[in-house]
Amino acid sequence: MTDMPGKFSIYVFVHESGHMIFGWPDLYWYGDYCTMGNRANDLNPVAINDFYRADQGWIPFVDITSEDVNNITSLEVTKPGEVCYRYKNPARPNQEGLVWSYVRNTGRNKVLAGSGLLMQHYDFSIEGNSAADKLGLRIVHASAAGKSSDNPGDQWPSPGSTANTFFKSGTYSEFSDDAYPAIRWYSGTKTGLKITDIGTPGDSLTFCIGENCSEPSSSSSAQESSSSTAELTVQKIALDVTLPLDNNYAYETLDLKGSEVAQILGIKQSEIEDKVTFYGVEPDGTLNSRTTGEGTGHWFDKDGKIVAWDPNGSSIVFSNVDLTTMTTKIGHMPNKVKSGDSFTIRQALVYGSKQVTFEITVTIEGGTTVITNLRKAKYGKPGSKIFNALGKPVGVRNANGALPDLPKGVYVEVAK
Ligand SMILES: [Zn+2]
Repeated sequence: MTDMPGKFSIYVFVHESGHMIFGWPDLYWYGDYCTMGNRANDLNPVAINDFYRADQGWIPFVDITSEDVNNITSLEVTKPGEVCYRYKNPARPNQEGLVWSYVRNTGRNKVLAGSGLLMQHYDFSIEGNSAADKLGLRIVHASAAGKSSDNPGDQWPSPGSTANTFFKSGTYSEFSDDAYPAIRWYSGTKTGLKITDIGTPGDSLTFCIGENCSEPSSSSSAQESSSSTAELTVQKIALDVTLPLDNNYAYETLDLKGSEVAQILGIKQSEIEDKVTFYGVEPDGTLNSRTTGEGTGHWFDKDGKIVAWDPNGSSIVFSNVDLTTMTTKIGHMPNKVKSGDSFTIRQALVYGSKQVTFEITVTIEGGTTVITNLRKAKYGKPGSKIFNALGKPVGVRNANGALPDLPKGVYVEVAK
């Protein structure tokens, strides 16, 4: 405990509350990256680090496994402090792991010297941060590659924070065992974690788990064209929408993340409408320039194929995009769907050699779905109840639609 003489320090109040209310330890040798670490600023104390926030259940953990690292996954897109990614040491899954999240130096984190992915190494078997060479929670510095170990003396009380602690586009755009020979599990074995293609910090940050996220277009027309044609790099944005069961084309408006798209394409958001080419994407990845919905829109069949509107045909879901507002109206054909039906539809924007594909999962309200992959089902309808395989309730999706922190397994979701 610290007494509070003279000018009232919000830092001291918040820090001591951290001890008393949550039982968090002092994070010596840690730096400015948490209010339980350095006293970086008395009047604008740094936020609690995202690992502690996730541990309290304030934000979700997203568990990454070696399977994710070694397989093709969709590019991760995360907002500051939105989720905490966690990669457990397979040999000691309940004790040790690496965690990371997007930390941006605005608002509560304004004092920090940089922005990007902030990675941490935890070990619950080490009690707190009470010895420099044995830290229960330490920052994995992006700039520490090649050192045999971080110099503990550099951590407390200075440098506080450095811009090069954060992983981001440029020199420190990747984490791997090869690039970081000093970062190992405390047993000395390699972690097996690999993160590549870490983007530029903005409203959100993108990165790839493993190294297989962006892929050249697989459409046959691109492969048949001459070798002078530049390869199209495809970045996917996964979106979910739940529709009411309705008989009069009721729609939901879905945000297409205009600023993120503009960042990926390398243009201003206000330029999207004039500069990009809009397509529907067939299930095999082929781009289809024919629009079949209203304006820049499409009708899709149950398999996501682009079809013409026909109440007696196979058209079942529409997505009518507005490039000015970067939103889309999504709805379904009357009398053709039932509660719990789910469809995947794709639309794309292309500019130069870059393609952004929106992969939209459309679910009809009121259904029951089986969850087999917690990562894929990360977001859904807020308030939906989750049951385990024995039918016991285990939680509810939060206001953002995120799942509660659940161990791997099969779950049943009942839409609210
Ligand atoms: Zn303290």
